[in-house]
Amino acid sequence: AIELNNMPLPSPWRADFPAIAALQRQGQTYLDNAATTQKPQALIDALNHYYVNGAANVHRAQHLPGANATQAFESSRSKIAHWLNADESAQIVFTHGATSALNLLAYGLEHECVAGDEIVISALEHHANLLPWQQLAHRCDLKLIILPLDTNGLIDLVAAAVLIGPRTRLLAVSQLSNVLGAWQPLPALLSMAKSHGALTVVDGAQGVVHGRHDVQALGCDFYVFSSHKLYGPEGLGVLYGRNEALARLHHWQFGGEMVLTADYHTARFRPAPLGFEAGTPPIASVIGLGATLDYLASLDHMAVVAHEAALHQLLLDGLNRREGIRVLGAPQLALVSFVVEGVHNADLAHLLTEQGIAVRAGHHCAMPLLKSLGLPGAIRVSLALYNDSDDLERFFSALDQALELLR
Ligand code: PMP
Repeated sequence: AIELNNMPLPSPWRADFPAIAALQRQGQTYLDNAATTQKPQALIDALNHYYVNGAANVHRAQHLPGANATQAFESSRSKIAHWLNADESAQIVFTHGATSALNLLAYGLEHECVAGDEIVISALEHHANLLPWQQLAHRCDLKLIILPLDTNGLIDLVAAAVLIGPRTRLLAVSQLSNVLGAWQPLPALLSMAKSHGALTVVDGAQGVVHGRHDVQALGCDFYVFSSHKLYGPEGLGVLYGRNEALARLHHWQFGGEMVLTADYHTARFRPAPLGFEAGTPPIASVIGLGATLDYLASLDHMAVVAHEAALHQLLLDGLNRREGIRVLGAPQLALVSFVVEGVHNADLAHLLTEQGIAVRAGHHCAMPLLKSLGLPGAIRVSLALYNDSDDLERFFSALDQALELLR
């Protein structure tokens, strides 16, 4: 057993997530929440209600089921707008995930780019916020500029002030790194980009889960996230855009419900949001995310933040106390990535897996970052509001056993 200095940290919300108990019965401790989260009963009930009471397509049918589905779907859009403190629900575009939202932007803004223009990202970006821009740069002969990190794993503002300049067409950066677990200095970065007239994109895939929900205060042009990481259903992403920024997007995918008029040779397209939601959207998932947000809004937000912070500290302390463990960067919340001297992360991951500890190992879809740190991979433990100190105790005891075998 490990010596926990602190009091036990039970999660008052654990029972709201039935899968946690189910996983525990399977001998699994789930600590891979940055990859995806378990779902609250409120979401499961909403999906059940929708499917049991009658599915229908949205924005098309005159009939009652269609009207009900459309009403529930659009009400979710308003809840999401409210969650992000957007001006209005028309600024919320549904996509199939953060990845598809970023691809939408990289295609939708292509017409704004001129050969030689610069797109600025950072060294810690997830592949989802790297590859769409890298490929856009290839298509249009742009320069992809990579902002370096300081020793704490934060985007280096001194370097950024030099690298963000008059040729910067767009800045796209993560709010909270999925590897280093640190809030990035977005206000300073966004204002540098804006002072040069560049568009700004924030990848909120990790940040949105941990209590910062004000896109107006943030002042970005676009903000993207995936529902499944925010305790919501899969197959759904959100693209928020300021009205002026959305108006600059060219349509990307074409099909049903995104047109105003069409004949065989020409078409006129709707503005956002529907103009960017070609085809049948993931209706149940949208309704489900609305229910998830209702559930999250009903929680004592400060209590959630305090619980996650206490767990994170426990995790960090436990790792720091053990010899030969190197924590990557200076994680502030939600997750910690680490490597162990003389131990390959894949071997350690294998032994943790055998003991029912579900953590992530590898490059975390940020290969260039891991390469720049000189690492083939790392182990990442990521927390959610339903985790508790017992989960961490099981993790540490499995870690100690694994290290005993490996060292
Ligand atoms: N950005 C970050 C920082 C992420 O952590 C992830 C998911 N790991 C993504 C983008 C992509 O999200 P999705 O796979 O849901 O599209």
